[in-house]
Amino acid sequence: MRYTHRRSRIAADSIFSAIIAVPLFADVHQTLFNGAPYFRVKHSMSKTFADFPLHESLQQALQTLGFTAPTPVQEQSIPAALEGKDLLVSSQTGSGKTAAFLLPTLHALAGNEDTLLSFKDRMRAVTAPSILVLCPTRELAQQVSQDAIGFVRHMKGVRIAAIMGGMPFGKQIQQLKGAQVVVATPGRLLDLVNRRQIKLDQVKALIVDEADRMLDLGFSEDLEAISDLAGNRDQTLMFSATFAGRIISLAERMMNDPQRISIETGHSTNTDITQTLHWTDGFEHKKKLLTHWLNGEDVDQAVVFASTQEDTDMLAEELAEAGLSVVALHGAMPQTVRNRRL
Ligand code: AMP
Repeated sequence: MRYTHRRSRIAADSIFSAIIAVPLFADVHQTLFNGAPYFRVKHSMSKTFADFPLHESLQQALQTLGFTAPTPVQEQSIPAALEGKDLLVSSQTGSGKTAAFLLPTLHALAGNEDTLLSFKDRMRAVTAPSILVLCPTRELAQQVSQDAIGFVRHMKGVRIAAIMGGMPFGKQIQQLKGAQVVVATPGRLLDLVNRRQIKLDQVKALIVDEADRMLDLGFSEDLEAISDLAGNRDQTLMFSATFAGRIISLAERMMNDPQRISIETGHSTNTDITQTLHWTDGFEHKKKLLTHWLNGEDVDQAVVFASTQEDTDMLAEELAEAGLSVVALHGAMPQTVRNRRL
């Protein structure tokens, strides 16, 4: 577990409190740190989206969304992806990576609107998307599909579907019908392939978002199975926070001589924060160390990050049992509860 602590001297008698939060919850980071974005998006001064040969409908959507200058990851990835290259891109959440892979792949679809099957024919046929985006989590799949819906708002007849675990199959199959763009978590996608509700042999562009998290979550085999099923594709784009060895070897298995694009995140370390790394022998040791440390006299308030929602709840409970005033906070809670807890 990683944990972050910010020493603050608010009031000598303030009661200790701890908020346990999972990193997915980006809006909370923003609220906690005085509204400053967690990852700063550096905008290029030289380019505008009009410099990219993107289809008019996408240019229109960008205007509606108020996007003018591309972020660094967009500036580098969009032209290379438009040339049809396979790309391996290092980028963080908040860097604008979603538009970096959606815009060039949707561009190809925008140019081919005339060749799309009629709505009626599509509803009769097994769904066969031409763009497939794989995401490690439901939340990310939902966010990416929402972004895609925003980008195709001026394109005719393009249907976007999000496929993720936790949703009833019937409802999901209905939503999936006739979609040309599918955003999915790997496990549920393979379930639907096995139920013959979707086929991947017409995928032209495969995008793997947050590939490092995919591997952390054990999706390696699922990714390779999907890569084989979508073997007729022309292009693969992979986005990852790092170029660790395991990502490179995954890219080698799934991609064709990819061009590497490395993006500076642009966030500098806050010098007010002292960073310390503690090695522990296991979970019990880690918990004891954390409790001891949170009980320190100079700790008034702390934010502890855990890697999953379940860990967050469990840790909050255990710290409460150890006598600390603590609340848990994560994305599975209704917004009203999150606001109250904050
Ligand atoms: P992402 O890293 O894709 O999750 O994007 C982070 C946020 O930046 C999202 O809210 C996007 O809508 C927004 N965004 C992405 N690209 C741009 C851009 N070129 N100009 C303004 N906002 C952007």
